[in-house]
Amino acid sequence: MAIIIDGKATAQKIRAEITSEVKQLVTEGMQPGLAVVLVGDNPASKVYVTMKEKACCDVGIFSDEYTLPADTGENELLSLIDRLNNDEKIHGILVQLPLPKHINEAKVLEAISPAKDVDGFHPYNVGRLVLGKPTFRPCTPYGIMVLLKEYGIDLTGKEVVIVGRSNIVGKPVAFMCLQQHATVTICHTRTVDLPAKIGMADILIAAAGRPEVIRGEWIKEGAVVIDVGVNRIAEKKLVGDVEFETAARRASHITPVPGGVGPMTITMLLQNTLLSAKMSLAKKQTGQEEPS
Ligand code: NAP
Repeated sequence: MAIIIDGKATAQKIRAEITSEVKQLVTEGMQPGLAVVLVGDNPASKVYVTMKEKACCDVGIFSDEYTLPADTGENELLSLIDRLNNDEKIHGILVQLPLPKHINEAKVLEAISPAKDVDGFHPYNVGRLVLGKPTFRPCTPYGIMVLLKEYGIDLTGKEVVIVGRSNIVGKPVAFMCLQQHATVTICHTRTVDLPAKIGMADILIAAAGRPEVIRGEWIKEGAVVIDVGVNRIAEKKLVGDVEFETAARRASHITPVPGGVGPMTITMLLQNTLLSAKMSLAKKQTGQEEPS
């Protein structure tokens, strides 16, 4: 039976470390601040925003929420972002996605200063990630890499197979794995013979968003299974993209859903906000940009 990768415990441990680093930073006159912008009243988005604010409060990060009506114009949102870009108390800006259809999402994400882009979605930071330079890493892939490290899983020379090519999970995690010297395959809906691709994986990262689409029997004996998928199949039942029971019999390590990758995402948002505040303090102290 596979070792269960406990995202909840790992997230708690990292949040405790963040709390003490924030305390230290406050004694140096710098409290990290995160602005969370929500447009409209999507119930799931509201839940995420509340969770993010609570997480900030728990570790001592100042958080400021901006809830705007669904009919907010694009220019109005852009001028709020401009204000936040210039607000010294704010080190991270997060615009909760999805945005209403009349707003150009890419334009909004590009308006966020790359220095405050704690979600890591700005093309400047995406470019730096691809180039292997230090940057704000998108929170879910970053959380996956931290979990792998925490469980002593070395990626060097390993076959990593990723199911999903989204900009927020599949693509960035592929570059992070490449940076760690893995050989990476990215699968999607046009991939031919998905079971065979999955059968090659030493490490499988499933981010398809389809309930249990990956059968346990496809998984290679001893593989590591990271299940990013969160799929609601009944009122109170969440499942991942992988058939957990059968996969856990073949894998060496596996993340549960919930309690695997999920708790790491917000934790890495806190980590990125802390990093941004530290960079801002260093800049103030030296009057210079951080070296890259
Ligand atoms: P997305 O934008 O919908 O992308 C899904 C990707 O999976 C697409 O590239 C799609 O291929 C591919 N795909 C879908 N069905 C497939 C199949 N049957 N075979 C092969 N590939 C398939 O989703 P996302 O935003 O990356 O999220 C993925 C999942 O992770 C969702 O369940 C989401 O809720 C979850 N998630 C969890 C967290 C967390 O914190 N736990 C964070 C983010 C996302 P095409 O490109 O060809 O369409």
